[in-house]
Amino acid sequence: MSNDDALLLIVSSPSGAGKTTLTNALRASVPNLLFSVSHTTRKPRAGEVHGREYYFVERKEFERLVREDTFLEWAEVHGNLYGTSRAEIARASEARGLIFDVDHQGARQIKSTRPDAVAVFILPPSMRILEDRLRGRASEDEATVQKRYKVALQEIQHYGLFDYVMVNDDLNAAIEKLRSIFYAEECRRSRAARTAEALIAEGRGYGGTVPPREAP
Ligand code: ADP
Ligand code: 5GP
Repeated sequence: MSNDDALLLIVSSPSGAGKTTLTNALRASVPNLLFSVSHTTRKPRAGEVHGREYYFVERKEFERLVREDTFLEWAEVHGNLYGTSRAEIARASEARGLIFDVDHQGARQIKSTRPDAVAVFILPPSMRILEDRLRGRASEDEATVQKRYKVALQEIQHYGLFDYVMVNDDLNAAIEKLRSIFYAEECRRSRAARTAEALIAEGRGYGGTVPPREAP
């Protein structure tokens, strides 16, 4: 069934603040909430699967896709190219919602074509904790950790682009906050209007609860 009211949820954060952890937890508890799988020229981390976390492609292939207008948005982040294909956003119509894990450039571009998208920014409790989390992930070398930490500071300066800004301190509390944003946004009048209008049409169609007037 096609769903024109599917929620487009952009989740951004400085690298290491926990958006992957939080979006995975949200998806585990909300059925039929899909993840937009981006293309990237970054090399896969241990455990990452082509087509699940990302479509991993060579730079030449990415540039060809750009020329072919495959992407709704794309950007260079940490020296690698990342992009959301138009095919991914089309998947939203088959789902309850679609999560985009993109940086501030991607958030801005998605918002400009889909102003109904909801953008959430996740902050670390402190810069010190962010550095610990980047290091704790143990999937990158020290130079990469340092590069990501520097970019994190720049990324935070773009918080003003976002509809919601939340701190990922206690993990369970943060999951609750993100879930609350999702449910509240799903109930937004503009998104629920179609359902309400369908009920009104249905009610009118067969007389609703108003009994037919008795003939005199
Ligand atoms: P991002 O996707 O934003 O780069 P990750 O979700 O990969 O961040 O999280 C970075 C690291 O921090 C991971 O090792 C993750 O397990 C850890 N982490 C995430 N959220 C919390 C939290 N609330 N408390 C402690 N550690 C966390
Ligand atoms: P990572 O390499 O840690 O998976 O992601 C690095 C950064 O790239 C993160 O800030 C992530 O949100 C961003 N990113 C991932 N996919 C996309 C995308 O398709 N477009 C944009 N603009 N950024 C992306």
